Amino acid sequence: MRIDIISVVPELLESPLGHSIVGRAIKKGIVEIHVHNLREFGKGPRLQVDDYSYGGDAGMVLMVEPVYRMIERLKSERDYDEVIYMSPDGEIFNQGVANELSLKENIIILCGHYKGIDHRIREHLVTREISVGDYVLSGGEIPAAMVADAIVRLLPGAITDETSALSDCFQDGMLSAPVYTRPAEFNGWKVPDVLLSGNPKLIREWQDEQAIDRTRRLRPGLLED
Ligand code: SAH
Repeated sequence: MRIDIISVVPELLESPLGHSIVGRAIKKGIVEIHVHNLREFGKGPRLQVDDYSYGGDAGMVLMVEPVYRMIERLKSERDYDEVIYMSPDGEIFNQGVANELSLKENIIILCGHYKGIDHRIREHLVTREISVGDYVLSGGEIPAAMVADAIVRLLPGAITDETSALSDCFQDGMLSAPVYTRPAEFNGWKVPDVLLSGNPKLIREWQDEQAIDRTRRLRPGLLED
């Protein structure tokens, strides 16, 4: 899989994509992630990429031409399954969307900044708009890193024990059971006996009960879905 991310502050993406599971997946060749600086197509000597908003609202808007030229350049090199714009008014990102996107070959993720991007890009080039929640961030970079991370951990080989991604929250529409590690007792706080029993059947039953109970208490809406 290949993910191309377009940004005016590419530095914001370096650390989230450079380490841990995503960083290792890139090194192993499981995914290619390319971050492109929109300024490459900036206008004039100052490589301008933003301008005042028509109508006089406060805040700068990313200009149509640099974004258009960047997307067209990428599209001239390969076919893309989706051109995604990160936006607070997009569809809410969840595990189902991550699963779906993890099956794509090539995607572009466009990060807005300041007041957003010229709407003509959204009308004519963007195929999908995704929000990470009902709140406004300064730019689309952190949301893009979230989306990329959620996708990459699903790619075969990204997580050493693949079943581990499958037992995560939301994969089967439920929250996951609590997890513990050694020591079995700390400060008088004990790990549930069943987990020390060595009986896989009992452990599985306990995990299932916990998952149902936690989902019912904490996220009842998931059971209705
Ligand atoms: N004026 C815009 C917000 C701009 S925030 C509005 O009211 O909708 C600047 C950029 O940050 C956006 O263009 C978008 O790319 C990104 N962004 C902010 N919040 C986001 C969210 N919840 N999900 C996804 N992207 C977001």
